[in-house]
Amino acid sequence: MTKFLLILLLFPFSLFAWNGSDHQLIGKHALEPVKSNFQLGIPVQVTPLSALLKKLPAGIGDIWHFSNWLGIDPGIDIEEPVPELMGKETVTPIEVLSLYAIDPDDGRDQNLFDRDEKGKPIARYADQKWFGALEGPNSQAFRHIEKPPFSFRKPRSTFGFPFRAVGEASKRAEIWFQLSQLAFELGEDYWGWRFLANSFHYLQDLHNPYHAGQITPEMAFKGFRAWFEWGRQQEGFVGTFAHLISNSHRFFESYVANPRGHDEGLKQQALLALEGRDFQSPLSSVQKLAEEIRDQSNNFFPSLLDAVTEATDPRLLGPITYNSDDPGADNPEQFLRKRDSFQQANQKIFRITHGRFASAGSIMRSVVKKSLDERGKKKTEELIQQLNQLLEYETILLDSESPPHQ
Ligand SMILES: [Zn+2]
Repeated sequence: MTKFLLILLLFPFSLFAWNGSDHQLIGKHALEPVKSNFQLGIPVQVTPLSALLKKLPAGIGDIWHFSNWLGIDPGIDIEEPVPELMGKETVTPIEVLSLYAIDPDDGRDQNLFDRDEKGKPIARYADQKWFGALEGPNSQAFRHIEKPPFSFRKPRSTFGFPFRAVGEASKRAEIWFQLSQLAFELGEDYWGWRFLANSFHYLQDLHNPYHAGQITPEMAFKGFRAWFEWGRQQEGFVGTFAHLISNSHRFFESYVANPRGHDEGLKQQALLALEGRDFQSPLSSVQKLAEEIRDQSNNFFPSLLDAVTEATDPRLLGPITYNSDDPGADNPEQFLRKRDSFQQANQKIFRITHGRFASAGSIMRSVVKKSLDERGKKKTEELIQQLNQLLEYETILLDSESPPHQ
């Protein structure tokens, strides 16, 4: 019995978010209507990251220590431009905010493990162990997915283990937001916008119900059956559950990113839902806001999972692996199950997407407004102290009034 419970405790989450192109489209559609209001079309000079680092205290004034401070993989080049902006000397804030929302999927949140005395990878952060993989692309899940605490009022959507909230996505949204404010305070506008785009990434992830839930009791039941039928040999216990959720998650994201044929109209409508001029003001912290988004998305998790299961071929609940990554990505169209209930399930998938996109549009505008409103209100030292707290970084990095590199 104890072993059984322990195994249950390891229900894994599955990974990835909106497809990269959708991450970029969200910012573009959300901000275009307020581009002139918020002056997002006025070009800023592209400056090297080293220019920003020079203005920071010595303890975090080089790329290795800076990355280490942020708790990201120092081996990842976070300065790498997207192909669209390669070689450009100036870029507009709206370009940066939309195109660089994909940055956090660059590997920075992956492979963040320590090693035991035998050299075996062990978790560095408390929530990592609930997400399975410590190495490889799936190891970023603990930063990009967040499940709310279990609630008796919402037992299906908040089902999973542990019962507490698990995942760091809302905190990451706050960290990159504060880092963005720090860059603006230091006069490095390009990095201010780029780090704000990075904060956007986590807020966009949390708008995806698959990023705000773990598993439903029904899917857990299907997982037990699959484990018994074929999972034992192929995937192991935990792996079987991960496999089923991952197939569903990946199908959803690639289908929504690229609904060929008759569903393009529904996708277009969802993109239009991002547009608008409304925003919330004033906002509490970005982290608090991110948690609210998480809880709203979580409400849709069971119905989305059900609708995807209804609309797709039962093969996705079997041993085959749905691949959403190029090269060799599967065509979602080939996994649709067009029986009588298909239209209804399909409508539901897009209705939920439409609603989440509408929220994302308003949130992106609200966070830009918050960023504009709060600029100049906090000094460099205060922002660094605040980041130290968020990053649980104990060493006090502030050593002097003037930056050491000048
Ligand atoms: Zn993500």
